[in-house]
Amino acid sequence: MMRMRKIIFATGNAGKMKEIRMILDGLAIDGMPAEILSMKEAGLDISIVEDGKSFTENAVIKARAVAEAAKKAGEAAIVLADDSGLEIDYLNKEPGIYSARYLGEETSYHEKNGNLLERLSGVPDEERTARFVCAIACVFPDGETLTELATVEGRIGYEEKGENGFGYDPIFIVPEYGRSTAELTEEEKNKISHRGKALRAMKEKLAGSRKMESECV
Ligand code: IMP
Repeated sequence: MMRMRKIIFATGNAGKMKEIRMILDGLAIDGMPAEILSMKEAGLDISIVEDGKSFTENAVIKARAVAEAAKKAGEAAIVLADDSGLEIDYLNKEPGIYSARYLGEETSYHEKNGNLLERLSGVPDEERTARFVCAIACVFPDGETLTELATVEGRIGYEEKGENGFGYDPIFIVPEYGRSTAELTEEEKNKISHRGKALRAMKEKLAGSRKMESECV
């Protein structure tokens, strides 16, 4: 049987897993193909308190918690985790690391987006600058940790546009495309997105790593 490197991605979000699998496709570590598992597929079900002060701190907290749980379950896997969000300059970088929790986890994104548009009402184009940020953390079985941070710059539009993507995509305009990220195809978004860039950078680091001592068969 072909030997595989097991990578657990610390997310319960099926949409993210699809995106992550597309981007990490073809990754090999020490010449061994990587097998990417969600927490659920790895049989791990833990809740994590994200109390870091930055995207990077939160990504590391998540990856370490899952690595710890995997270790307890006897699994010597590499663990990846991400933390991401939207920073709006005019609002002092809100919602930032609280993007998922902004106005409460249960509030719909239609309402969250409406609220942000309202708070920016009357604000001119040049002051509507914003960015999506994504931090990726990677924790090896020996505890060594790598991180990557990437952004995509844009501005907040004047109304929700587009049906693709998720979250704040309908109000985030990418200048190169002149469209919101909810109006981009999955491939277009992956090419320029914060998560796409951070994951590709991490993929390169992992492809060049010689760190795994234990392996999965
Ligand atoms: P996380 O899953 O803890 O990283 O939370 C990220 C939150 O930031 C999401 O729930 C969205 O609100 C927002 N976010 C991050 N990336 C994107 C994106 O690509 N499009 C739209 N919203 C995003």
